[in-house]
Amino acid sequence: MQMTKSFKNVYISEHPILQHNLATLRNKNSSPEAFRNALGRIFQIVFFEATRNIVLEEVSVTTPIMETKCKVYSKDSTIIISPILRAGLSLADEAVKIIPQAVVSHLGMYRDEKTLEPVWYYNKSYDINFNPKQSTVFLLDPMLATGNTIVAAINNYLSLGVEPNNIHVVSIISSPQGISKLEKEFPNVNIYTASVDEGLNENGYIVPGLGDAGDRIYNTKW
Ligand code: URA
Repeated sequence: MQMTKSFKNVYISEHPILQHNLATLRNKNSSPEAFRNALGRIFQIVFFEATRNIVLEEVSVTTPIMETKCKVYSKDSTIIISPILRAGLSLADEAVKIIPQAVVSHLGMYRDEKTLEPVWYYNKSYDINFNPKQSTVFLLDPMLATGNTIVAAINNYLSLGVEPNNIHVVSIISSPQGISKLEKEFPNVNIYTASVDEGLNENGYIVPGLGDAGDRIYNTKW
């Protein structure tokens, strides 16, 4: 898959299927069904790249012809899919189709509309049984806007002991401000996205963006 590496730890996919579906996401006239389907397709392309370094182990498998060596996800390493509610939920549904063995750790935060700071209301990461040093975390949020929510999510996993280079942020549309913030605060965290847009407006929305991702996925007040 063709990926452009234009920032230190940021990977932007330029796959044509992704580009085509991005037009559907951006179009304000796309139906919720078309929006969700396009989001799912784009996410898959970005997620395949984000999961490129998952730890594997060798196993023996017997084909109808003979025994052979194969590679499977390592039993010693936990794969954590961590969607940020609410918009990240739809990405988690796609991610578990691809890696059904993953642990899903929901993080609930909403943006305070005045301060644009995240407000926590749910955190499942404290309840999951995992060895942080041998875990890979995929943080899922379709929009990396100010970066405040993702910063809080990354700090949450760092405080639990996950290594920064084992944290992967998977977003669909990012702002340059959000990316700069993450690169400055967490130089070893990896970011995967389908587009880095022009910037943010006065309400913290990505420009040109796609509007409010949660509202468009769940067909609320758009
Ligand atoms: N969250 C969204 O849903 N859209 C934006 O543009 C920014 C944050």
